[in-house]
Amino acid sequence: MNTRTQRRAHKSLEFLKRAWLLPASLVFLCSCQNSEAPTPLEKQVSELQTEALQSDLAFSLLHALTTEVGPRMAGTDGDRRAVEWARSIMTSLGFDQVWLEPVTFPKWRRGSETAFLVTGYRLPLAVTALGGSTGTDGVMRAEIELFDDLQALSNADSQQVQGKIVFINDRMSMGEKGRGYSQVVGGRTDGPYVAAEKGALALVIRSVGTDNNRLAHTGSIALPQGRVAVPSAAISNPDADLLESVINSGKPVELELQLDCGIDGAATSYNVIGEVTGNDPESGYFVMGAHLDSWDLGMGAVDDGAGVAITMAAAKLIADLPERARRGLRVILYANEEQGIYGGREYARAHSHEMDAHIAGAESDFGSGRVYALASTVSEEAQAAIEELAGLLAPLGISYDPEMQAYGGADIGQLGLLGMPMIDLRQDASLYFDIHHTANDTLDKVNLDDLNQNVAAWVTLAWFMANTDQAFGPP
Ligand code: ZN
Ligand code: ZN
Repeated sequence: MNTRTQRRAHKSLEFLKRAWLLPASLVFLCSCQNSEAPTPLEKQVSELQTEALQSDLAFSLLHALTTEVGPRMAGTDGDRRAVEWARSIMTSLGFDQVWLEPVTFPKWRRGSETAFLVTGYRLPLAVTALGGSTGTDGVMRAEIELFDDLQALSNADSQQVQGKIVFINDRMSMGEKGRGYSQVVGGRTDGPYVAAEKGALALVIRSVGTDNNRLAHTGSIALPQGRVAVPSAAISNPDADLLESVINSGKPVELELQLDCGIDGAATSYNVIGEVTGNDPESGYFVMGAHLDSWDLGMGAVDDGAGVAITMAAAKLIADLPERARRGLRVILYANEEQGIYGGREYARAHSHEMDAHIAGAESDFGSGRVYALASTVSEEAQAAIEELAGLLAPLGISYDPEMQAYGGADIGQLGLLGMPMIDLRQDASLYFDIHHTANDTLDKVNLDDLNQNVAAWVTLAWFMANTDQAFGPP
């Protein structure tokens, strides 16, 4: 952390301690480009945006989550601390109701993990087990078989891989939109099962990430659903480059792999839910969310501490307004997204009978990169309202293309499956996959101005959804 960040962090902590004691300091800055006087609606949104852009609240929350709570992998002590922290902070911030809903899942444990390239010399590799993986039961040493991607492994003859360690060498591409992720992540989620079907001993993948650091990216394998998987790990991009060239040189090469990890019974964590109630209980609520759990290797500042801080800070700005809006805002901090979307799936199961009250939802789970676009999956009748919302977001540099559909995100997507309309605030992901699921996911990677631009976008969205009469579904 540099000196400027440290000063900010210190200031932020002081701010956090007194945040809920202060009245909202509203500074009016008109965002209208024309000479017409702003409507009351435009004026209030502009005030909220200005306050969001100048606030230290989101950064303070993120600082507290990463330094006081720390890593919070599902089922660990850190996870329990995070739940308590979120409950107490939501109450302090002025949410009208705060409650917990239990979520139970298999408890995955990570112990020691090592990998060595053995080819005349013996080189330690930067390796990390994939979430949900079984262990190797001691040291495993075997020949390596390289595949360019999951499809190539699926097409392979069993004889080619039997008794070997499979290496999927699929490289993720860079890009603002982060689309490269979905193109390669199948190797991580399904590769362990395909490798087992073919008779391999273990699977090693090139990290699903865009950096060239010698750090491995973890991430979970798919849920078992009756299938058997081999022990699975990721190695860093530079190590994957090395392994690829040694294999391609034709020299004999083996991998020595030791993973101590596995499922250890069940654990219960909680979806932490806070609501800023509306003044018309019949009109439902807008759902905002992020996931509270993180991986264990880093601090989970970017994934998904940023989303937790952004959505909590935006809701607090609404809670501070002198009057309650028509509709409520429900902020859901989901349990255990990382190992199988357990919190999102449990919330959808428990609330499926009251989906009419969930007027629409959105999720912040793409770090702290600036929001560049609005997308929606709503009814035809709601398009005009979305265009109105787009006009309010435009001063923040956010574009809108009516043809672009909302993805929703992993957790909120479970409610999308039940027919809830969805909104996306798409974020710049150019740097996100450099640090995603690595030890490098720390607070210094978060830019305050970008974080606050997110809060400004979210407070605009939340305010608009809470105040409009428009219905958004069925999409
Ligand atoms: Zn995430
Ligand atoms: Zn993640």
